[in-house]
Amino acid sequence: MATDDEIPEIIRGSVIRASGGWYEVDAPHKGKPHGLRLICQTRGLLKKGKREVSQPVVVGDEVEVRTAPTHGANARGERLQEGSILRVFPRRSELGRARYGKTKQITVANLDLVIIIMSAREPDLNTHRLDRFLVLAEANDLEAVICFNKIDLLKKKEFNQEIVPVRNLSKSLGYRCLTTSTETDEGIDELRQLMTNKISSFVGSSGVGKSSLACEVQPGLHLWIGEVMDIGKGRHTTTEVTLHPIDGGGYLVDTPGIKTVMLLE
Ligand code: GDP
Repeated sequence: MATDDEIPEIIRGSVIRASGGWYEVDAPHKGKPHGLRLICQTRGLLKKGKREVSQPVVVGDEVEVRTAPTHGANARGERLQEGSILRVFPRRSELGRARYGKTKQITVANLDLVIIIMSAREPDLNTHRLDRFLVLAEANDLEAVICFNKIDLLKKKEFNQEIVPVRNLSKSLGYRCLTTSTETDEGIDELRQLMTNKISSFVGSSGVGKSSLACEVQPGLHLWIGEVMDIGKGRHTTTEVTLHPIDGGGYLVDTPGIKTVMLLE
C-alpha cells in the first residue's frame, strides 16, 4: 500500500463494498491494479438531479474520488485513508431487482462476465441446470462462459460421452467453454486469464467447486457465501455484496443468491 504523500488528490477506482453510507474503493496505484484502498462517503453527490435508482452508488461502480488526509476504519476495523466520491461513471451493466411501485434496486454494477460452473461429477453434469443459468445470464444481458469442473473425476471415455457433446453444442451456440480441475490445475490459468481486468461472478449449484476455483484463481481468497441452491428453500443469506480483487487485475463478485437477483430482474 502507498504512503499518504504518494497518493494523488483525485483517483479513479471501483467500489468493492458498501455499508451504511460508507464505500470502500479499490484503485490502481503505481502500476499495481489494487495498489490503493480508501474508505469514502458521497458528500454532495446524491443531491444533484433526479434519482433514477434508489441507491446512487453500488458495489461495482467506477467512481472518481477526492482523497483526504484523514483516516477511518472500515467494517472490519482496518484503517484506511478517507475520500469523497465525486462522481459515478456510466455503468457497463446493472444487476438488480425491481421493487413493486418503487425504483429499481441495483445490487451490483459493471458485472462483465458470468462464469457458470458445472461439475462433471459429484454432482454429475446437469444440462437442465446449465440451460437455466444460460437463460438467466441472457435475460440479464450478461456474457456467460461455461466451466466444466472436476474434470479429473472422468475417464477419457466418460469425458467424450458426457462432456464433449454438451461442450460442442454450447460452442456452436457461441459460448466459450473451459474444462477445469482444482486437483490437476487443468484450465486454471485460462480461467484466470479470462477474468483479468473484468468483474466476474461464479454461479452454479452447491458443491460444484466455486469456492475451490476461487481459491485457485486467487490464492487465499475465501468465498464466504456459496450460491443459494434453490429459490424459496429458506436458506438464510445476507445481502452483502463484495468484490474480491484478483492480483492480475479485475474482481470476483461474492454475493449471496446472484441467481435470485438475476431471476427477479
Ligand atoms: P461450492 O459449494 O460450489 O463452493 O464447492 P466447493 O468449492 O466447496 O467444492 C465442493 C467439493 O468439491 C469440495 O470437497 C472440493 O474439494 C471438491 N472439488 C472442487 N473442485 C474439484 C475438482 O476440480 N476436482 C475434484 N476431484 N474435486 C473438486
